[in-house]
Amino acid sequence: MSPWAFGCDSRNPSCALRIRKLMAGSIPSMRQAILMFHGIGTVPDYVDKDEVPYWVGWDMFQELVDWTIQSDASKQVIFTFDDGNQSDIAAARRLADAGLTAKFFVLAGRLEKPGYIGTAELNELVAMGMEVGLHGRNHVDWRLANAASLQAELLDARKQLADTAGVQIRSVAIPFGGYNRRVMRRLLREDFDRIYTTDIGLAQRGSRIAP
Ligand SMILES: [Zn+2]
Repeated sequence: MSPWAFGCDSRNPSCALRIRKLMAGSIPSMRQAILMFHGIGTVPDYVDKDEVPYWVGWDMFQELVDWTIQSDASKQVIFTFDDGNQSDIAAARRLADAGLTAKFFVLAGRLEKPGYIGTAELNELVAMGMEVGLHGRNHVDWRLANAASLQAELLDARKQLADTAGVQIRSVAIPFGGYNRRVMRRLLREDFDRIYTTDIGLAQRGSRIAP
């Protein structure tokens, strides 16, 4: 997990430290800090206990939004959200109020499921100028997926999201950040503008593979 691209519980001291470090420093001009969020706010009961540590509070989120504006880093800080949790909408509204945009990596298979966004919210995200990206269909590890499953996770899910949101899906975030040579080769072949992993480091501006 990158010290910059984090998805962690702000109550966790090491996560809070990482966020402080980011906010205390400055990002080199050709670099980007990718902030990876999952759900925000109080963790609902339906959330798998493995996912709980990746939720952050609204206070921490707002602090990062304010810091991005104040440090004039809106071109270098990229807000991303994985999984399509219902809190994405409230987060998007806060970002839009601040004049910021974000990327929402949605799971096609969780659309309309309790606790997750659906068609109406996807359309609202697009209307707010947010980017919708692919996070797959069922949140499986693509390294272990067979050809048929990868087809469903990438092609079918991408088409479903594009049809539902009415926009092209140009970027992808890999579930669990789990990739190998086979997965990456496939993703590169699928013509995504940007592929988000959870590798460590700052992203190079304009790079096709980002941490
Ligand atoms: Zn995920």
